[in-house]
Amino acid sequence: MSASYRHIEVPPRGQKISVVDGKPQVPDQPIVGYVEGDGIGPDITRACLRIWDAAVAKAYGGKRQIHWCEVFLGEKAARLYDGNYCPDETIQALRDLVVSIKGPLTTPVGGGFRSLNVALRQDLDLYACVRPVRHYAGVPSPLKNPGKVDVVIFRENTEDVYTGIEFKAGSPENDKLAKFLREELQARFFDGAGLGVKPISAFGSKRLVRKAIQYAIDNGRESVTLVHKGNIMKFTEGAFRNWGYEVARDEFGGVTITEEQLYGEFKGKQPAGKIVIKDRIADIMFQMMLLRPEEFDVLATMNLNGDYLSDAIAAEVGGVGIAPGANIGDAVAVFEATHGTAPKYAGLNKVNPGSLLFSGVMMLEYMGWSEAADLITLVYPEVVSDGIVTYDFARQIDGAREVSTSAFADALIERMQGGVDVEAKRRAQQEQLIKERKQREIRRLLQPTEEMIATGRVPHSVGDLMTRSLITVAEIESIETVMGVMADNGVSSVVVDPDARGQWGILTRRDIVTKVVQGNRNPATTTVGELASRPVVSVPAETTIRDAAALLTEKKISRLPIEQSGRIIGIVTETDLFNSIKKFGWSLE
Ligand code: NAP
Repeated sequence: MSASYRHIEVPPRGQKISVVDGKPQVPDQPIVGYVEGDGIGPDITRACLRIWDAAVAKAYGGKRQIHWCEVFLGEKAARLYDGNYCPDETIQALRDLVVSIKGPLTTPVGGGFRSLNVALRQDLDLYACVRPVRHYAGVPSPLKNPGKVDVVIFRENTEDVYTGIEFKAGSPENDKLAKFLREELQARFFDGAGLGVKPISAFGSKRLVRKAIQYAIDNGRESVTLVHKGNIMKFTEGAFRNWGYEVARDEFGGVTITEEQLYGEFKGKQPAGKIVIKDRIADIMFQMMLLRPEEFDVLATMNLNGDYLSDAIAAEVGGVGIAPGANIGDAVAVFEATHGTAPKYAGLNKVNPGSLLFSGVMMLEYMGWSEAADLITLVYPEVVSDGIVTYDFARQIDGAREVSTSAFADALIERMQGGVDVEAKRRAQQEQLIKERKQREIRRLLQPTEEMIATGRVPHSVGDLMTRSLITVAEIESIETVMGVMADNGVSSVVVDPDARGQWGILTRRDIVTKVVQGNRNPATTTVGELASRPVVSVPAETTIRDAAALLTEKKISRLPIEQSGRIIGIVTETDLFNSIKKFGWSLE
């Protein structure tokens, strides 16, 4: 760590947190950075530091302690660093300290200033914005069953339409780009349109989805949902979805299955230790988070969808006022209150510390200090349910007692110190979780199609529809034997093992009927190799239903083997496509 900061005083006791293989290595006496923030920042930070310290002391009996190191951003930084709202040494300290937490910051109005939050994300490459959203008993909510909401949103932070590649209508740059798009790429759009670019890369998408899946693994989560509008924006949003599935398959193949496999191969029963990777169109996701929120767990989104979705879901369970968040990269994590500086309440000791408080809970979990984190999450609903709340909740709860920020912190600390049976509460929560997962599983087993429709699943690639229980036969088998296999299994085709040139083949009932009868052959002495069609027309699992339908028509065939890494892993037929359209409809693209 840099020894010579100008204004930052590193606590003399305490050790630095490090990162090994992307995971924080946290000593028992870690140094953690904090930024007090502007406006209401000092009020909520003061209260939260006391609560976090009390939770750690209670959970570890003095064995562990956070050594706080104040770093400066925003107005406080400007006062100390000659008007500089975002000093270089603060960025360096956040990098050195690895884990930090910050209150809200005022973005100075006027030209020449980057938003401080944007500056932090860019300078520290904090590419994942992580927002857990769950309901705490007692917190007012517009939903009938807000307890069913418990998701963690991983929003990509560095790409999408937020990269600022925008050209104002009428500007010379806009004219140049419009001319290029029209003349070179035959693009069509109205005259005088403002133009923006939406970059979505494999690199950016994969590192975000990788983090989301890793989180799901580390926290025993059930599924990761890739949220996108790939039906409309195929090469950006659709590509995000495909790259997401690719990461799951290539890097987490042993611990993930697709939703298609869940319903197909596993008949709706989720195998132990496997996380389901699924995807949803963004607009359906908004509906689902109101109608069937319990179906969703970890969400991975691009920047714009994630921005809308995280605030909308937070509003379902008590408003953005208490929603926590963090911006996390490979080497640094900055946890933060998600609301602003609420300047009219600055210094009044009045506002709700919930957003910063739960960001700290996330931080404790990130550090592996879940016992301290659990103490806070378990005690919080008890205090709120007793009607001890800040002004914002008091105005929504009949008979509530409005208290100040610091008095709310006192009540929480007092409750923690009064003794909480964390183990018993955690066990009860776990049992409830298992019960709910079982109920969902039973619904999938009993009514798979209804469940798929009710949970917003729309198949869109052949991988979603293919039959995996393939029958393969060797080319030296006799036709008579294979006819028996087909009849016994009720299938109309079999896949034939590769020949000497490595080409897979296919043998259909129609091949047998036409070639045996017209060729006047004896089924007992004719081999599969003689009648099989080779090479097969096969496609990757990601092939869209539209492209598959076009191929079937063009090649005048009725089934397509699905290949992956040189192997045939399934088969999709015209009947499968027909059934899918019948069950799920066909949304116009
Ligand atoms: P805001 O500060 O979030 O305040 C809007 C309203 O939200 C407040 O008036 C208050 O509602 C409620 N609120 C916010 N925090 C609360 C809390 N802790 N407890 C209870 N109620 C709370 O949004 P803003 O007024 O649009 O923005 C003010 C400044 O904050 C701007 O300079 C903006 O740039 C900055 N900002 C910073 C961040 C950040 O640093 N992460 C984020 C957003 C905005 P009532 O009036 O109904 O009581």
